[in-house]
This record gives sequence, structure tokens and C-alpha cells, in this order.
Amino acid sequence: MSTKYKRGSFQLMKSMNRSTILNMIREEGPISRADIAKKTKLTPPTVSNIVKELISTQFVIETTQGMSKGGRKPTLLEINADQFYTIGVDVGTTQMKFVITNLFGKLKSHTTLTIPPFPSHEDILSIMKKGIRELMDGADLNKFLGIGVGMHGIVDPEEGRSLFAPAFQLHDIPIRDVLENEFNMIVKVENDARAMTLGEYWFGNGNDADNMLGVNVGNGIGAGLMVKGRLFHGEHNLAGEIGHITIDLSGPKCNCGNYGCLQTLAAGPAIAERAKKELKAGRPSLIHELVDGDYDKVDGQKVYEAATQQDPFSIELLHQTGRYLGIGLTNLIHTINPKRMIIGGGVSGAGEFLMRGIEETIQSRGLTDKAKETSIVLSKLGEHASAIGACVLVLEEFFIRQE
Ligand SMILES: [Zn+2]
Repeated sequence: MSTKYKRGSFQLMKSMNRSTILNMIREEGPISRADIAKKTKLTPPTVSNIVKELISTQFVIETTQGMSKGGRKPTLLEINADQFYTIGVDVGTTQMKFVITNLFGKLKSHTTLTIPPFPSHEDILSIMKKGIRELMDGADLNKFLGIGVGMHGIVDPEEGRSLFAPAFQLHDIPIRDVLENEFNMIVKVENDARAMTLGEYWFGNGNDADNMLGVNVGNGIGAGLMVKGRLFHGEHNLAGEIGHITIDLSGPKCNCGNYGCLQTLAAGPAIAERAKKELKAGRPSLIHELVDGDYDKVDGQKVYEAATQQDPFSIELLHQTGRYLGIGLTNLIHTINPKRMIIGGGVSGAGEFLMRGIEETIQSRGLTDKAKETSIVLSKLGEHASAIGACVLVLEEFFIRQE
């Protein structure tokens, strides 16, 4: 019965009034039927009928908690948060992260699997299936609404395919078709930075900003553009590939073939490369000790570690990285004019050291006072941001009416 039931309720949620009411209960609950009617301008009988259906699908429950305005306590409605779960997958360059969250994006369990070097299509898909099976093991399968996948590189969300994953040099992986076939539930696929942005918008630091950017700084750099509360993809799903905007015409060569792309200056491997070059040239730094003279061990994490121990070289290196990021972000401010930019991904772990460079650069380069005041914050969802955002891809199907 599980599949039929899920597909049925999925169709049910496509009605605009139902998803409007469900979303209102999510955002404002506990809330009374009367207040829903007032705020949505739907008639009380319409609200009452739809709420009845939402209760029968178990998305919504009645509660008497909440403020009583004198007299008897009103019956309020709230989301039945733990009645349904979603699965989120974040496909990075070396690791795949898996999470289960409830209807409020709360982490219920998680696991991480390693991606071998030079994986094949089959490797990627079988690691995906393995991780999902591992998390679902022993759970009541009727609880799962669907699977969301955030994948680095160029993704076609309409077709649920990875068009190009640069770290694997793989083209055209039919993620949705394979996972739908395997698990028989809704599967949504999106670029990882967009998934992160969506996660922050729903459950993190972006919830009051309909125009905002999420910037994922890890082994590469990508951004999710949120315009009027919806992700922006551009004409060919290329929007947000900010790792390849040119920052320095005579900068290092990028894996895309161009020179001086933002990610050749500010992504994790770029930080490590710059550190290695200076260390080999004899620059004094705590990193020499941390890696015991073995420069192959130098990575972004080591630089961060040294910075936390007040190593001047590492602090300056991260400050410089912040300035490069700041130039990239200033370009974005002038292109998109967002209310907020949220920095996530592995490198954002060093956020405290990057932030000064980012802010200084935006201060000196922003066109107007308003541009200079653009809010820049670190991700709230941290290392699981893209995976939790991938869960939201599924939640959107139920809570937001799809055009
Ligand atoms: Zn590039």
C-alpha cells in the first residue's frame, strides 16, 4: 500500500489551496483554522475541508497547546513533524553524505561513504544506493516521502540527471531514474550549492531573505541563487557556477582551462597550493611542524588548524583567501543585489578567518552604501547543509505548489 498511498498524497498536494494551507501551518503553526482562513483569505468551510484531508494524510495534527485568549483553549493545528521523513544525499568530490530529516529539517540520522578516485557511473550510483539502504535499514518504509540528491557540477533538475560532474569527469548520470526504480519513491536531483541554499532558506540563516545567495566553498566553489524565494537555474542550468568567474587574468590555471578563476584562488585545494609554495620557499610557519615536513599533507584543514593556533602565516593566507572571495562576492552583489549571502561548504569552517577579508573587500569595492551593507553570514546547517537542502527538494513537492 505504501507506494500507492505516497503517490496519491503527492498528487493531492499539488492543489494550490492545500499546499498554501500546509505551508502556512508549517511556518506559523500552531495556528487555528480561523486564523488560517483570515490569512489565506480562503472561506472557513474551504479551510475546514482541506484541513480535514491534511489530518487524514497525517501531515497535520490537532493540538491544544498555545496561548488561550481567555475562555476555552482553541484547537490549533501543527505539522506532524515526525510522521514523515525524507532522505538527503550530498554528492561531494571525495565523499557522499546521507541524512534523514523530519518535516522540520531536523537531523534524525546520518552517514558518510567515501567515493573512490576516478569512479564510474556505476560506482556513483551503487554508493548512493548503499548509503540510502544503510540509513533506511530497519525503519518503517511508509514514513519516507522521498529522496533528494544534491550533486556537484551541472545538474538538470527537470530530468533528475547529473549532466557533468567535473571532479569525476563523468557525463550524464541518470540519478533520478535509477533511484526511483530502486526505491519506488519520489526522487529530486539538484546542484549541491543550490540544495544548500534551499536548505538555508527553509531551515537555516536565509529564512527572511527571498533574494539571497548560498555560496558553497569546498574543493570547488558554486552558488545557489534564490530569487523571490525560488531557486534560479538560468537557461541551461549553469547559473551559479561562480567558481569560474575570472578574478585574476594572470592567475593559476583552472581545471576548466581558463586562468585565474575564483576557485583557483579561494577553494580548499587553492589554499593548500599557495601554502605549499610558500612553505617550500622557506616561509616560517607552524604548518611545518603540523605536517612534520611532509608537504603532501598540507591541506586547507591544516592551514585552518595553524591559524587557530595564532600562526601569522596561516592567518594571513586565510585573510588573503577572504579577499579573493570578497572580490567574487562583490561581483555577485552587483549582479544580483541579494539581501544576504550565506557562506557554506568545507572552507567555511575557517569562516572566522575569512570573514575579515571578505568584509574589507566588499567595503572597499561595493558601489553604494546599500551594496556595502549586504549581509554576509556563515551557514547555519554546517556540514550537512547540502544534504538537508536535498531533503527540502522533496518537501517542496508537498508544501509548495509546483508551477
Ligand atoms: Zn575555471
